[in-house]
Amino acid sequence: MQELTEKYRKELLDDLLKICKSHLSKVDEDMISRAFKLSFEAHKNDFRSSGEPYFLHPYQVAIIVASEMPLDDISVVVALLHDVVEDTDFSLEFIAKEFSQEVADIVDGVTKISGVFTGQDLTQAENYRKLLLSMIKDIRVILVKFADRLHNMRTLEFVPQLKQRRIAKETKEIYAPFANRFGLGKIKWELEDLSFKYLNHKEYDQIARQIKSKRRERETYIKKFVSPLEQKLREHGLKFEISGRAKHIYSIFKKLLKLNTTIDNIYDLLAIRIIIESNDPNECYYVLGVVNQIYNPIDRFKDYISIPKKNNYQSIHNTVIGPDGKHVEIQIRTRKMHEIAEKGVAAHWKYKESFNQTDSEMEEWVNWVRDIFQNVEKTEAPKELLSSFKLNLYQDEIYAFTPKGDLRRLPKKSTPVDFAFDIHSNVGYNCIGAKVNGKIVPLNTMLHSGDQVDIITSKNQKPNKNWLQFVETHKAKANIRKYLNQEEDRVIQSGKDIWEKKLKKIKKIFQQDEFDKLVRRLKLDNNSQFYAAIAHNKLDLDEILAPPAKIVEKLPEELEFNDFARVARSSNKGIVVDRDYSGIEHNFARCCNPIPGDPIVGYITIGEGIKIHRRDCNNLIHMVKTDEHKLVTVNWSTDKGASFVAGINIRGEDKPGLLSFISNSITSFNNTNIKAMNITSKDSLFTGTVAVFVNDLDHLNRLIERLKKNKDIFSVERFDATS
Ligand code: MN
Repeated sequence: MQELTEKYRKELLDDLLKICKSHLSKVDEDMISRAFKLSFEAHKNDFRSSGEPYFLHPYQVAIIVASEMPLDDISVVVALLHDVVEDTDFSLEFIAKEFSQEVADIVDGVTKISGVFTGQDLTQAENYRKLLLSMIKDIRVILVKFADRLHNMRTLEFVPQLKQRRIAKETKEIYAPFANRFGLGKIKWELEDLSFKYLNHKEYDQIARQIKSKRRERETYIKKFVSPLEQKLREHGLKFEISGRAKHIYSIFKKLLKLNTTIDNIYDLLAIRIIIESNDPNECYYVLGVVNQIYNPIDRFKDYISIPKKNNYQSIHNTVIGPDGKHVEIQIRTRKMHEIAEKGVAAHWKYKESFNQTDSEMEEWVNWVRDIFQNVEKTEAPKELLSSFKLNLYQDEIYAFTPKGDLRRLPKKSTPVDFAFDIHSNVGYNCIGAKVNGKIVPLNTMLHSGDQVDIITSKNQKPNKNWLQFVETHKAKANIRKYLNQEEDRVIQSGKDIWEKKLKKIKKIFQQDEFDKLVRRLKLDNNSQFYAAIAHNKLDLDEILAPPAKIVEKLPEELEFNDFARVARSSNKGIVVDRDYSGIEHNFARCCNPIPGDPIVGYITIGEGIKIHRRDCNNLIHMVKTDEHKLVTVNWSTDKGASFVAGINIRGEDKPGLLSFISNSITSFNNTNIKAMNITSKDSLFTGTVAVFVNDLDHLNRLIERLKKNKDIFSVERFDATS
């Protein structure tokens, strides 16, 4: 049993501080020292399975955090304290008081996700959800957890076999893929090799043994391969580091499975890495040229420098034929590229992992998190980065989960409707309710990070206009608007169908301009409004089609006066002829064409009966000079209430509302009825002819005066043969 003497403890602390100072930009030595002491105090009576003092575990985790995934001093403090709350009598409140709320929160997060996997099915949605959520809350929770797991895996041999397998399985299925996602390439390989060791003990041992047995052979070979290369590179004055190693055991195992072969048949077990001490990528190509001068390349060249992987991984991969005809893979990269690849940015996840999440937003997010790592160089200010990281997460976005545990990233203030549309537009369209964390909530409920959202759908549900007032995502808004527009189209079409059916029934045909006039008369903006009003039952079609239909009754383009006269006369009760001449046929003289209302007189002709003239007819005046006796008194029928048809010509500027002004003025004037109306509009000149029923000339004249009052009307004249 190892004794942690005070002297030894001081050495341990000094080592830790030294590592921190060499990897981190800012180190609060006092804070780390206090965490070191508290951790020691808290765990001083505990021991690990190996028999070591338990304190050495959090201490080693802190070392891993500081050296292998350096982020900030707070992560180191959390690493030291990560088991304190769970395993000892110290509380979170105490840690918050002694250190800070921030430290306490991260410690709490590490404790909580530790419980996630214990003795449970790892693929369970709920656990997956918790893991993702803790990542979201503070990335340092996951970092410390990775370090914790790595140290546990490194010391797993002391643990009972059953527990070994469980921990190894968790590591392989959860931790390694996540490490990969974060680009923690080196940690990923180690976690994979270690879990492989405990899960497939036999295979691991076999490969390890074979690699080991050929170690000397391999080292000799590497030397043989490398020395001419080193010499040549030095001749060219390059500064570099060259190393050779066997590939990772787990990757060899996967290759054996894939190629279905034995280790003796795998040529490129070896990987040579040349790291150039320069920031000039061109030197990598230079080195490549040197390599290819010495060894023949085979067609397996990959240039990730000019075309980096999406995750910014940069390196040249080149396979050549080395001594004895063996294939050797060479990686050439600058120091900086190497740092990025090792420290957590050169993630191969996108290409090599079949991660159970196809959501491109999730990938984007992980990319972004990785960028955070990438930017945490010594020269940067990690604290600012971290706070902006948290800020982004907390202020703009929420992370909610499907019942299956899939993560959906949404803007803050999102609702179940946003969530539904995020899943699929059809889910959104039919979304009728939602359960958040198992409880039914209204659709406008604001979601929060970590909520588990179960959308309830119904085929009969359709998007509602009110949804637009609370949805937050562009996707939901666009989809709802699209649906409402389509719905409007459907309404308009159904109104149009009703209208056309009605017209067909009453056998009426509307010309476009007549139709437009009708729409204007109803004070509607356009045809769509008209049809929508019909569909919504807001218009009485019978009412629309009844009296106003006369206004738009089809008339000849130009109302000929003769036609008008005929219409006007036939609608009159006729002519009353002096009693002595009753029975004699009468007709209207063509010279003056009298129409009802005109003062008239009859003139007896030979063979054509009585000709009816206007009293002021010039022709007649001329004739009666000699034949006054041929005149006969005639009158328009004067039955009480009888009215006659008169024509009015109206000319004016074609302005909206003019037609309705005319028709309203006429119909509201002494109950004047419109018999017919003919309107033409050309070059904004409005020409209309209206046939109206009037009681007498006075009635007609007063109507004309009234129409003249509109400033858009230039002239109003009685329809007359002489006009
Ligand atoms: Mn631990």
